[in-house]
Amino acid sequence: MSSILRIALQKSGRLSEDSYQLFKECGIRFDYGTGKLKSVSSNFPAEFLFLRDDDIPGYVEDGVADLGIVGENVAVESARNIDTVHRLGFSKCRLSLAIPRGNEWNGIQDLSGKNIATSYPLILGNYLRDQNISADIHVISGSVEIAPGIGLAEAICDIVSSGSTLLSNGLKEVEVIFRSEAILIARSTLETEKQSLLDKLLFRIKAVQAAKNNKYIVLNAPNAALDQIKSLLPGMKSPTVTPLATEGWSSVHSVINENDFWENIEAIRSAGAQGILVIPIEKMIY
Ligand code: ATP
Ligand code: MG
Repeated sequence: MSSILRIALQKSGRLSEDSYQLFKECGIRFDYGTGKLKSVSSNFPAEFLFLRDDDIPGYVEDGVADLGIVGENVAVESARNIDTVHRLGFSKCRLSLAIPRGNEWNGIQDLSGKNIATSYPLILGNYLRDQNISADIHVISGSVEIAPGIGLAEAICDIVSSGSTLLSNGLKEVEVIFRSEAILIARSTLETEKQSLLDKLLFRIKAVQAAKNNKYIVLNAPNAALDQIKSLLPGMKSPTVTPLATEGWSSVHSVINENDFWENIEAIRSAGAQGILVIPIEKMIY
C-alpha cells in the first residue's frame, strides 16, 4: 500500500485560515468547512484531519496523525514527544505576565509568593524556575484575564496579541515570557516513505515562504548608472540587464528581498532608475 501523510489542522480558530491557505499555495487541494472531520487531497498523497488545536500534539505523538500545525505555545505546553519541523511565521502571539493596571511593577521579583492564574502552567513554571521566583500557579482553562478582578490571583500569564483584552480587563502587560508562532510538527519517527512525502511538502512550503519575502523588480536605468544600481540589486545570481530601444538605456530585472527593497529604493532612484515596477512572486525555488 502506498503511503499517505495524515495532517492534523485546527478545525476553526486562529490557525485555520492561514493553515488552509498555506496548503493551497503549495498546490495541495482538499475540501474543508461544511463540518467535515477529514478530507483526502485530490492531488497529493495527504489526508487532513480537522481538530481542536489542543488535541493536535497528542494525536501526532500517538501516530493518529503524522504531521500537524499548532501554535508553538500549545506544542511546548503539551510536553509531547514531537518534532518541530518548520516555523510557519503566522499566528504570532506572545505569552505575557500581566497585573492590575493600578499596581506598581518593579520587576519579576514582585511575583514572589503571589498567585498567578494561567492556562500555561508548564511554560510559566519553567520561566519562574529560571528566574528563581517561587509563586503559586493557579491553572484555569479559559478567561484567565478575569482572575485578578474576582480575587482569584494577583497576576495572570496569558496569550497576548494586541493587548486589547488585557486593557478591557484593567490589566497591564509587564513581562513577555514566550514568543509563539504557528509551527509544523511531526511524529518523531516517520517511516521512510512518509519522510520523503514530508520532504516534498517542505520543499513546497519553503518555495512559498521565499516568494513571500521577495519581489521581482524591473526598472529602466541610464547605462552610466548600471554598476551602481547592480550593486544595490544583488538578485538570485546577478541582475539581468537588457538594452532598451532608447540609446544609452537599459532595463534591469532582479529579485529583491522585501526589506532590502525599502532600504535601497531611495539609493536606486537617486542613482537614476526610472519606471520601477515591483511585482509579487508566486513561487521561488533556490
Ligand atoms: P480550539 O477550538 O481549536 O481549541 P482555541 O480557542 O484553543 O481553539 P485559538 O484562539 O483559535 O485557539 O488560537 C489558536 C492559536 O493561535 C493559539 O494557541 C496561539 O498560538 C495563536 N494565537 C495568535 N494570536 C492569538 C490571540 N490573539 N489569542 C489567542 N491565540 C492566538
Ligand atoms: Mg484550543
